[in-house]
Amino acid sequence: MARATYRICTLPGDGIGPEIMAEGKKVLAAVGTRANVDFVCEDHLIGGAAIDATEGTEHPTALPKETLLAARASDAVLLAAVGGPKWTNTDADKPRPEQGLLAIRKGLGLYLNLRPVRMFDALRDASPLRPELLEGVDLVIVRELTGGLYFGEHRRERDVEGAGVGGGKGGFASDTMEYSEYEVDRVVRWAFEAARRRRGVVHSVDKANVLETSRMWREITHAIAAEYPDVRAEDLYVDNAAMQLVANPAQFDVIVTENTFGDILSDEASMLTGSLGMLASASLGSGTALYEPSHGSAPDIAGKGIANPLAQILSVELMLRHSFQMDDEADWIVSAVRSALDDGWRTADIADDATPADHVLGTVAMGDKVVEYL
Ligand code: NAD
Repeated sequence: MARATYRICTLPGDGIGPEIMAEGKKVLAAVGTRANVDFVCEDHLIGGAAIDATEGTEHPTALPKETLLAARASDAVLLAAVGGPKWTNTDADKPRPEQGLLAIRKGLGLYLNLRPVRMFDALRDASPLRPELLEGVDLVIVRELTGGLYFGEHRRERDVEGAGVGGGKGGFASDTMEYSEYEVDRVVRWAFEAARRRRGVVHSVDKANVLETSRMWREITHAIAAEYPDVRAEDLYVDNAAMQLVANPAQFDVIVTENTFGDILSDEASMLTGSLGMLASASLGSGTALYEPSHGSAPDIAGKGIANPLAQILSVELMLRHSFQMDDEADWIVSAVRSALDDGWRTADIADDATPADHVLGTVAMGDKVVEYL
């Protein structure tokens, strides 16, 4: 059989980005060798690195056109992180690294974000929750990414009669939450498909007791649920969901929700594991998908060789699973990471007083360790 080839647009970005990207690529290459697949990676500029490279040109930018074209033409995009103090400015006319992220998400039409939260038993003590609550936590939050409150009409008025403090003239602001059936359907349907490949449970989170968008969301969800009799579907109000996530997180398999609720719940859920350096995310759309760690560019430790590369490596896992349908190979990566942690290997951010000094690894050594366990 001909050897498969996948082309990956790699975006190292700024800060620790290039350091952790190197480890992601290392693991990807090791999987390729074992699975008889060629992964061809091509680096492109994004974020502060892109701003520096385009400085002095007519259009300094955090996302050069070549990067977007290369991303669209590739089979998947693997991003590390962008940003840093060098590019922090309040001048609205100057580009900022984070604009590169928004622009590439928009440019690729990514309408769904996926954040798995998986407990590695070896790291249970890093969580702010009691260890017994974390037994078996393995959930994924599916968040709508391009609709709702963040993309509706934003209005601000200054001198509105009766809006001022004390009843006089004053300021008034509104943000509109909007959804079309189409936008809801494609995300909820994806969640049910995902549940079918997992443990077969979907919790749909809304605020249908108050919001019209939520009532429509719920109707659509019920119609889709009828098409998936093998998946157990439950509705949950967002306030209850926030509570349940810390009270009994192990009950969840797939949580699907709209943009704003998802933004908040996914950050809450990320704290279950207690370690930012472990969390990967995927953004999917109709074309090329994008995979990245949930953390930022960690400028405080950039260049020191101590960054935790595991979120980047787990982004590779998501890429194999969702862009290349290589579930077995994705499982190899999870097992390798789990074995490395079970055997006590740590980077500085996830080490504790009980970690022997010779088990605290740098970025490169942790990447090597994962490859060794693969
Ligand atoms: P951050 O996630 O970069 O860092 C927060 C803390 O976590 C820091 O102490 C950092 O050292 C630590 N940390 C993060 N990732 C780590 C890793 N892999 N290994 C070890 N420690 C790790 O968030 P921040 O400090 O708020 O932001 C720094 C820069 O990153 C800013 O410019 C911000 O805009 C940008 N940012 C980018 C993204 C992205 O690229 N998707 C996301 C968030 C923040």
